[in-house]
Amino acid sequence: MKRLLTLLACVCATLMATAAENETQTTKLDEALPVRGLAIQAPTKEGLDLFVKFIEEELAPAHFNLLILRVDWNYEYKSHPELRDPDPLTEKDVKRLVAACKKHGIRLAPQINLLGHQSWAETTYALLREYPQFDETPHVDTKNYTSWPNPDGLYCKSYCPLHPDMPRVVNALIDEITEVFETDLFHAGMDEVFYIADDHCPRCAGKDPAELFAGEVNRIQNHLALTGKRLMIWGDRLIDGKTTGLGAWEASMNNTARAIDMISKDVFICDWHYERADLTAVYFAMKGLDVATCPWRRPELAVEQMNDMISWRNQTTAATKSHLQGIIETVWSPAEPFLKSYYSSETGDRNADVANTVKRLMEEYKKL
Ligand SMILES: [Zn+2]
Repeated sequence: MKRLLTLLACVCATLMATAAENETQTTKLDEALPVRGLAIQAPTKEGLDLFVKFIEEELAPAHFNLLILRVDWNYEYKSHPELRDPDPLTEKDVKRLVAACKKHGIRLAPQINLLGHQSWAETTYALLREYPQFDETPHVDTKNYTSWPNPDGLYCKSYCPLHPDMPRVVNALIDEITEVFETDLFHAGMDEVFYIADDHCPRCAGKDPAELFAGEVNRIQNHLALTGKRLMIWGDRLIDGKTTGLGAWEASMNNTARAIDMISKDVFICDWHYERADLTAVYFAMKGLDVATCPWRRPELAVEQMNDMISWRNQTTAATKSHLQGIIETVWSPAEPFLKSYYSSETGDRNADVANTVKRLMEEYKKL
């Protein structure tokens, strides 16, 4: 009996020491990088088990504390069932994700792409399929899409930010998705918006694209603020692509960049750069906006971006430091092929590169 008690005491002491070590590690990480996120497409129903396992066994032990899930139309919306994808995630499915994240202190930010990214190539997505009157460019037919560049300048469709009936639909979706995910964060995408202030739009023609963009950002942020929630967006439309040399994709060449001075300071900026460790996070922070740097598929570059963030936090004032929030790794394939690469340790394709970037960041977090 005495031997058993001694053994139990040893086990307890070991567990307590491990818990204390974990806590110390998390505290150190929180100081270096308050936000350690992953942005990825939400799993399908079939991929849910593996995705929950990935949260529990990989993200949580590696001290990730934010998961941005691109849900879009992959949810059984009750407010707007007409917008559901076939076989979408159910409320019960989402609650499994919520439970796994809650257990490990991981904040969830569900994402629905708003304003831009309403189509891809020949496919028009649910919102404009069901509400074609919201289309900013109804004269452009996605069926005629040819590869980029094309005469229509079609990359992705946008909805009209001034259509009077649009907010009623979009607000209901935002309310429903944040409620089922039990979160105060919502990601609206809003990247790569090429169609804005279109000359043919009876509401937007001739208006300032920066004002239109900021107007829609603020409209969504204000709606979220009514229930104590907060908007996250990608940062590219807020950076001047010409001055910075960053061009039309990871920055704006369509006159939206001045919106940076018009949007609410409560909006969280996800500043994505995949080719270089650009300095734009500092720009956002000095405008008083919370920001995280977002790498993608190059492990060495992701580490450089991470180290920049840590170094900037160490060398600036408390006020600016508070806005430099950390790193959010981005995954642009669906969750299943990414997880296949993650668990198979294959090399040589893009999914493998992204999986290796995630693993590399996990290793780096251990060293902090
Ligand atoms: Zn319009």
